[in-house]
Amino acid sequence: MKITVIGTGFVGVVTAAVYASFGHEVVGLDIDENKIKTLRNSKVPFYEPNLEELLTTTQKEGNLTFTTSYQDSVTNSDVIVIAVGTPSAADGNADLKFVYAASESAAKYLKKQAVVVVKSTVPPGTLPKVEEHIKKFTDVEFATASVPEFLKEGTAVHDTLHPDRIVIGATRKYAYEILAELHKPLQAPIINVSPESAQMAKYAANAYLATRITFINQIADLCEKNGADVQEVIQAISEDKRVGGHYWYPGFGYGGSCFPKDVKELAHYSRTVGEADNLFNKITQINEDRIPKLLEQYSKEIGGFEGKTVAVLGLSFKPNTDDMREAPSIKVIPYLLASGATVKGFDPKSLEVVKYFIKEDDNATYYSQIESAVKDADVIISLIEWAEIVAFDYGKARDINKKQVVIDARNQLDGEKLTKLGYKYYGVGR
Ligand code: NAD
Repeated sequence: MKITVIGTGFVGVVTAAVYASFGHEVVGLDIDENKIKTLRNSKVPFYEPNLEELLTTTQKEGNLTFTTSYQDSVTNSDVIVIAVGTPSAADGNADLKFVYAASESAAKYLKKQAVVVVKSTVPPGTLPKVEEHIKKFTDVEFATASVPEFLKEGTAVHDTLHPDRIVIGATRKYAYEILAELHKPLQAPIINVSPESAQMAKYAANAYLATRITFINQIADLCEKNGADVQEVIQAISEDKRVGGHYWYPGFGYGGSCFPKDVKELAHYSRTVGEADNLFNKITQINEDRIPKLLEQYSKEIGGFEGKTVAVLGLSFKPNTDDMREAPSIKVIPYLLASGATVKGFDPKSLEVVKYFIKEDDNATYYSQIESAVKDADVIISLIEWAEIVAFDYGKARDINKKQVVIDARNQLDGEKLTKLGYKYYGVGR
């Protein structure tokens, strides 16, 4: 098959490389010329494990190329995958301008019976609008489909090669068939549904996971009032098969490029259909209040952050990515600086990116070596469970002449060991 993937961000590059690895002729298309130049040299403009290797192999085999030209790529393509960004507007509405722009740019080059797949996360009801935009520029017969993406940054290549399921919501029968054929090598269950169900499935999955995080955070808050340990509570409830032991992350709340955006978009969609008081309209606020609430609490317990040197470990929104969109560090560091602390941040991969989010100056410096960040620290905040942070020997940063504090925002460190070393240890919900 000939395939064009429009938008070579996280989702687009991984999707294009995986389709190419099946032997299809794939072109990755972006309006960002620098990105395309980088990708042509088999370099990935962000950190994602194993992606560069897959890119190199598929490019060497001649199955994957990159372009900025719609004409060169879309003409003759059987499948056109739209994987551009869909950021939330200020009111939470999914901003679909990139999806519509991509649809219009592709429209006049569509061949007969081309399938235009919207992989970007979009609200129910989007496909008819995409079709309207396309029909302004072409009379050829085409189909549209929603095939939402469920990959996770940090494990994106693995997730795309071994998906739990492929969800297809198409507007024509032949599109279901072509897309089933395209995804066959993945050997994953293919779930054919309506376009609206496919779009709701994506929002439902992310809203559920965000709710699960919010739920356990609220349980953690209650545990702190009564001496229970949320990790023990998790262990106890996980044995119930209806509850399960996976995906429990008490901590500073959810972040990243998808959960906050998708929950806001679902909440906005709910309001537009008269469901303004539903759960999804509450979660964002609870999550946004979380970091300031916890920092206030820790600040009171340790006598304030003013004048203290604080090591902030983990700047990306989760391990194995340099993506800092909605990372906790973006809220934590400004809070600390405003409280009069000096911040020394550590992250193994995001130092190139960090400057776009939080300025480096006399009071805030960032390091790719954990030893440099924890040196002379009064407070160590472990924000993200990068392997380097979990495995670090905190004895090396212990100064017996000082009262030192460790705040373990993900409950990933050995609290008992840290206490024995002489740190005052704070986890979440314990
Ligand atoms: P991204 O911001 O990393 O990349 C989007 C790319 O689209 C950019 O390179 C941009 O230059 C390009 N682009 C914008 N307009 C274009 C146009 N008209 N023509 C060609 N290229 C254009 O986005 P992403 O993180 O890959 O997310 C893409 C979509 O997938 C979003 O809807 C997102 O919600 C969804 N999604 C993302 C993830 C994730 O983990 N990042 C996971 C699942 C779903």
